[in-house]
Amino acid sequence: MVNESERSRSDWTREEVRALFALPFPDLVYRAQSVHRRNFDPSRIQLSTLLSIKTGGCPEDCAYCPQSIHYDTGVDAAKLMGLDGVLAAARAAAGQGATRFCMGAAWREPKDRDLDAVCAMVAGVKEMGLETCATLGMLTAPQAQRLAAAGLDFYNHNLDTSPEYYERIITTRTYRDRLDTLAQVREAGIKLCCGGIVGMGESREDRVGMIHTLATLPLHPESVPINLLVRVAGTPLSEAAPLDGLEFVRTVAVARVTMPRSVVRLSAGREEMTDELQALCFLAGANSIFCGPRLLTTPNPARAHDAALFERLGLKAAAP
Ligand code: SF4
Repeated sequence: MVNESERSRSDWTREEVRALFALPFPDLVYRAQSVHRRNFDPSRIQLSTLLSIKTGGCPEDCAYCPQSIHYDTGVDAAKLMGLDGVLAAARAAAGQGATRFCMGAAWREPKDRDLDAVCAMVAGVKEMGLETCATLGMLTAPQAQRLAAAGLDFYNHNLDTSPEYYERIITTRTYRDRLDTLAQVREAGIKLCCGGIVGMGESREDRVGMIHTLATLPLHPESVPINLLVRVAGTPLSEAAPLDGLEFVRTVAVARVTMPRSVVRLSAGREEMTDELQALCFLAGANSIFCGPRLLTTPNPARAHDAALFERLGLKAAAP
């Protein structure tokens, strides 16, 4: 008999997701950890590294983002990095135990000539034996196919928040645009990395809506990054009220229960989390982190700090 925690369902109702969020905290964490153990080794954490290959100057108006041209955040626009610099960064990441190398560009969508350069980067990183991931904005079907042909394993494109709260966060593209890009990526045979950000002033019902949307995609994203807002000066969300840490853990736990086979990643915001909060997230089913001192333009915990935390918790890096 297939246990509920061993099969992936795409028919979660919003009421079911809401009810998970409302469970007593110990019950929710116990359930998430039970699901986690049936699908993963709970002592292994996948390590990814993220490099900004093209920083700043983005025409989109994502209210959390220091790279948008709409906000004065002190992030200068830079050109697309050269191939050699990207490959050197990938080599260094591999040397530090990362198994996946993510390349992020602050574009609304890539131009075809830029895609030539990114495809060369993907092919070069892949040759090193690393998994490849890119986040480049919206994609057309032919662009997704070209990236797949170059060897791209994962494409990151987050839903960010619930369908209802979305227009409070971004006005320059729609939720439908995001879902369309996700469909193009799937169609091209690339795995999906798709999650969202919490702590943007949304309600719990918005967190329910975000997880419900992710968990009812026809196939769950293979990676689900759960970001905690980094409040960057100059962005509209710089003064957002901090989210209760336990509510963050609940969000991780509900992602784990509803998407049992997905890798759930602690992404932005770890720098502001205590070790104890991160430990609770691992207990609630998070099994991936971004490692390295920067996440695009914001700080991330130092490698030595993460290594010490893994040691204290008895966690190990997952093999590729
Ligand atoms: S999140 Fe991405 S699309 Fe939005 S403004 Fe930042 S770089 Fe641009």
